[in-house]
Amino acid sequence: MRVYELFRFLMDKIFPEINHSMNVIFQENPQPMWVFDIATLNFLTVNNAALQHYGYTEEEFLSMSVRDIRPKEDIEKLEQTIENLSGPATTRRTFRHLKKDGSIIYVDIISFPLPYNNGQSRLVMISDITESTLLLERFDLISKATHDAVWDWNLETDELWWNKSFIDVFGHSGQELKNDLESWANRIHPEDKDQVLASISEAIQGGQKNWTKHYRFLKGDGTYADVIDRGYTQFKDGKGIRMVGSMMDITLQLQLERARAQSDSILQTISSASPTALWMSDVEGNLVYINQKWLTWSNTSLADNQMNGWLKIVHPDDVTLVSETYAKSVLERTAYELDYRIILKDGEERWVLATGFPRYEQDNTFTGFVGAVTDITRQKHMEIQKDTFINTISHELKTPISTIKGFGQLLRKSKTIVESPVVKHLDRILVQADRMDRLIQDLLDVSRIALGKLVLNEMEVDFKKLLSDSIQDLQLVYPTHKLELTENADCKLYGDPARMTQLITNLIDNAVKYSPAANRVLVYQHCDQEFLTVSVQDFGLGIIKSNLPFIFDKFYQVNDVYKTPGLGIGLYVCKEIIERMNGSIWLNSTEGEGSIFSFKLPRKL
Ligand code: ADP
Repeated sequence: MRVYELFRFLMDKIFPEINHSMNVIFQENPQPMWVFDIATLNFLTVNNAALQHYGYTEEEFLSMSVRDIRPKEDIEKLEQTIENLSGPATTRRTFRHLKKDGSIIYVDIISFPLPYNNGQSRLVMISDITESTLLLERFDLISKATHDAVWDWNLETDELWWNKSFIDVFGHSGQELKNDLESWANRIHPEDKDQVLASISEAIQGGQKNWTKHYRFLKGDGTYADVIDRGYTQFKDGKGIRMVGSMMDITLQLQLERARAQSDSILQTISSASPTALWMSDVEGNLVYINQKWLTWSNTSLADNQMNGWLKIVHPDDVTLVSETYAKSVLERTAYELDYRIILKDGEERWVLATGFPRYEQDNTFTGFVGAVTDITRQKHMEIQKDTFINTISHELKTPISTIKGFGQLLRKSKTIVESPVVKHLDRILVQADRMDRLIQDLLDVSRIALGKLVLNEMEVDFKKLLSDSIQDLQLVYPTHKLELTENADCKLYGDPARMTQLITNLIDNAVKYSPAANRVLVYQHCDQEFLTVSVQDFGLGIIKSNLPFIFDKFYQVNDVYKTPGLGIGLYVCKEIIERMNGSIWLNSTEGEGSIFSFKLPRKL
């Protein structure tokens, strides 16, 4: 303003006698200045500071008009202000100007009329405010981005300034919000108000620079927002003079936290009430959570179960199996399922079924394991009872069927019977007795497998001969189908011949049974350096894809429209025998076209 007053003085008093020193004051003034013609807007004279600041030479400047130093989009605004230029008033405005290098600057200009040039000119003094304007812009942008409402409180006058975000965040219109402390204090929730005011004045009185408070603040729509308000106080001579701060709306955050806490507590309740023990581990397999069920079983705490402490309640005979299975799954990040025994706090033994699955975040990061341990003691006992029952009943049936078969075969040898028409009936009795005998053998095998008592009687076997002999015998039993041995390589191997015959018999029995409309069954045998492979192909019912995974399960039978007799144990026994011989069994089947069952055994020679 001092420069302005000086010029006023110069204009009024001394201008008529402009002399050299006046010119120097104008030319050498550090503040950019110029004089322009209000009719043409052409520059009439420009000082050195303006030349330097804008980057034009004097010649260039004097060939331009005020229009040329405005960004194109601001020209319209300039045209609107031209009309007021001829008045005597001093004006103060903020504009944007263009420098020669194309950069845009923000300027505060003071312009006033000069008697020079017949009163058709104005002197303009320019202050570059680009830096402070950009700083303000940046501040505004930051508070928009952080969504913080910023305030500045003059403690001496109680004047309170808020930034634009304050209006955006809390939805108050500019008019209703006055720039005083009352406007803020009256919007604090009545239940929080006294506390908030007391705490802020306590902080200021106590010389505390930082103040933080969580309270509810009234929004423009009449609802309350949860806010965290943080202030910083400036002190002068021990007295608080200014406090600046920001208010953050945390309503949504709180709502989310409450919802999460609620769902956590629901999950916690479900988990505690669950009849199954549920657990969770971290990436290394260390237990991070286990529910009440397990803690009650073992009378332990979560800490007791960490660092493999949970293995302490596993039955000593099962610990190795359990810990090895778990360690392997964690290492390979694969799911597992395992039956084992645990010892409860009162010493009672329980059977459990434990499952574990790897956990992944949405972005596929592995986060550990989650699993369940279900008490299956009842089922296990029933299974054991069932196995014992099957064992007993099969033994009981074995003797009568052996007697029937024995005496039947004896009769078959008698001349009178052979020559009489009843021989046909006797043959049917013998076929069915054979079938029953095999069923009983299979049942006995099931209980032997369950009790771990399946014994292999291994020796060197000429498999080519074994297979052709078996096919010959079976052909007599199954006259409806031609059993075609299409490939039978020379093959010696080490194994149990009776069990091998049992495998062939079971597969051919099924092939015939499940292809009632067909009249042939194909058998292939292939032998290489290491393995023997046998396939039995039929042209019968085939198996629906969805049933394939269960075909080798104990007592599994496909829902059979033909009501074919059977117990669902033949394939289970085959699989167990083959696995005991370190081999494998598999099948290819198409519903309505037929099946090929194949097994592979190591020759072990
Ligand atoms: P089952 O005594 O019922 O024959 P298995 O264990 O031998 O018991 O077979 C299990 C089930 O697999 C059978 O019930 C049948 O549905 C199906 N299956 C076995 N072999 C064949 C086959 N060759 N063709 C079609 N289905 C078959």
